[in-house]
Amino acid sequence: DEKPLQTFLEDAANRYQEKKALHFMGKELSFNEVLTESKKMANYFQSLGVVKGDRVAIMLPNTPQSVIAYYGALMAGAIVVQTNPLYTERELAYQLNDSGAKIIICLDILLPRVSNVKSETPLEHVIVTRIKDYLPFPKNLIYPFIQKKQYNLVVKVEENAETHDWVKVMERAQPTYQPVEVDPKEDLALLQYTGGTTGFPKGVMLTHYNLVANVQMCDAWLYKTKHGEEIVLGVLPFFHVYGMTTVMNMSIMVGSKMILMPKFDAGDLLKTIDKQRPTLFPGAPTIYVGLLNHPDLKKYDLSSIEACISGSAPLPVDVQEKFEKVTGGRLVEGYGLTESSPVTHANFVWEERVNGSIGIPWPDTDSKIFNMETMEEAEIGEVGEVAVKGPQIMKGYWNRPEDTENTLKDGWLLTGDLGYMDERGYFYIVDRKKDMIIAGGYNIYPREVEEVLYEHEGVLEAVVAGVPDPYRGETVKAYIVPKEGYTLDEDELNTFCRNNLAAFKVPRLYEFRDELPKTAVGKILRRQLVDEEKKKQQ
Ligand code: ATP
Repeated sequence: DEKPLQTFLEDAANRYQEKKALHFMGKELSFNEVLTESKKMANYFQSLGVVKGDRVAIMLPNTPQSVIAYYGALMAGAIVVQTNPLYTERELAYQLNDSGAKIIICLDILLPRVSNVKSETPLEHVIVTRIKDYLPFPKNLIYPFIQKKQYNLVVKVEENAETHDWVKVMERAQPTYQPVEVDPKEDLALLQYTGGTTGFPKGVMLTHYNLVANVQMCDAWLYKTKHGEEIVLGVLPFFHVYGMTTVMNMSIMVGSKMILMPKFDAGDLLKTIDKQRPTLFPGAPTIYVGLLNHPDLKKYDLSSIEACISGSAPLPVDVQEKFEKVTGGRLVEGYGLTESSPVTHANFVWEERVNGSIGIPWPDTDSKIFNMETMEEAEIGEVGEVAVKGPQIMKGYWNRPEDTENTLKDGWLLTGDLGYMDERGYFYIVDRKKDMIIAGGYNIYPREVEEVLYEHEGVLEAVVAGVPDPYRGETVKAYIVPKEGYTLDEDELNTFCRNNLAAFKVPRLYEFRDELPKTAVGKILRRQLVDEEKKKQQ
């Protein structure tokens, strides 16, 4: 289907009308209400001078505003630039300059950060909203990205020619806008910055067609969604392409109710599942691990959950099994990246699946393994670079022709991940090219070592990285978060690893921590740990 993404919401509202589209901390909005608000937003953007192709930045956690601003911007013909609310001023300024965004929609609490960088960026207008703008009786204001002691911080918003208050905008704007023609295959809907796990974020150019194709695959192939009947748990952030596609766009397209969670907190999530009865729950391994390890897990009824897809990082098999037992639903692993809108592979939810595998390529999606030296197609079982081709693959990197050339070869996206394919066509990720550790001439894949560590009963989270070593070039270091009630020591883990791994793979260094640095979708930031270690060694 070659419909532009901007028609999604209108189509859904025509079909589902007064049915509830959003649930946010007790407040619900119907499809008609979301459409009206989004049209007003489009109207307002156009009154501020937005024309086709202009970039509009959205810096919001999952809230009604994040959905309304997104569809409003698309209807006005703009390209959405999602901005992580955790960004520091430096990161924010970089992204605003790189994308050239003219307008930003942000939470009141983020206004000081935006104001401090505004004059060094092309930003012209700031639209400010508050968590409570859609809550008649706000109890606890939840700001996911600030410390608890700041929860009640109130930032005063004074309107002027460049600062606009969301509530007043909605009072002033009309629900009519000038429709903008787009060519779904050519025109961009989104400029999505990569997670930055391995380097400086790059702007990924995704067209309307890229995003729509991925949502349709998700609906028809993955879940076999019951249109109009599902309830989708929205805990993955929509400012990341994974949550945007598998939760927000999918939920709107199939007419389900979406439960908006602005923050991941295992206790809150358990309560929400118990009360709101979601059927679909896209997530990431750290989210499922967090739930399974919550002390009150047994108090809640999670039986409404029918299907979950886990992506963004490898899903440990024992987590998958435990989660299925607790919920009675299915949890399958999928794979993707920002450059592919994001999903390219997954296991079947309702049919046979292969644990430990990312599944098979999605419909219309081809995938190959390239031998890294010859760049020829690898043999079955041979590890090489995973490449993908399909309607969800990006147009390129924004203003970075060289990076685009290095990543897109004859329509094949080189993913930077190492993997192999088995004789049945199932794919396995071994590790990222950049994460592979070379210690004393041996290649070590952190993931293999992490899997062993996760098997130890006292380990809650583990990440393994190559840190500089004067003799071996790099050496293997493990960072461990112990489970509550366990005291772990180096000797014990060392013996455990020696029993399960070849000697050259066994970590030489261990560090125990209360928590590990993570990205917005809960991916452990290995690079940050390595940088810390490098600084320590200097
Ligand atoms: P950057 O690309 O800037 O370094 P990032 O890795 O966070 O940041 P994303 O596009 O968010 O960028 O993540 C895509 C990557 O996530 C993939 O290339 C892959 O390494 C990893 N990934 C996704 N799903 C899985 C999975 N099921 N198993 C293993 N790795 C996965």
